[in-house]
Amino acid sequence: MIKVIINAEACKGCGLCVRACPKQVLRLAPTTLNSRGYHPSEVADAESCIGCCSCARTCPDVVIRIEKEVE
Ligand code: SF4
Ligand code: SF4
Repeated sequence: MIKVIINAEACKGCGLCVRACPKQVLRLAPTTLNSRGYHPSEVADAESCIGCCSCARTCPDVVIRIEKEVE
């Protein structure tokens, strides 16, 4: 089980992670704003995540963390 954990309050809505994801897992929240007035990144399709960490590596503000649970 792979979990994509996004600190929405720290996100500046730049969209780099959305473009970096090869599986279209992420999107910028269409209606939600964080307290700084940005549309934060959110998980739109958790099932498709392959845990490649491309999003986490790309984020300039280290907003995304990937957790892989061993079963
Ligand atoms: S870990 Fe990879 S597949 Fe999963 S959301 Fe990030 S970039 Fe996309
Ligand atoms: S790259 Fe980081 S700051 Fe930019 S939208 Fe994604 S999570 Fe937010």
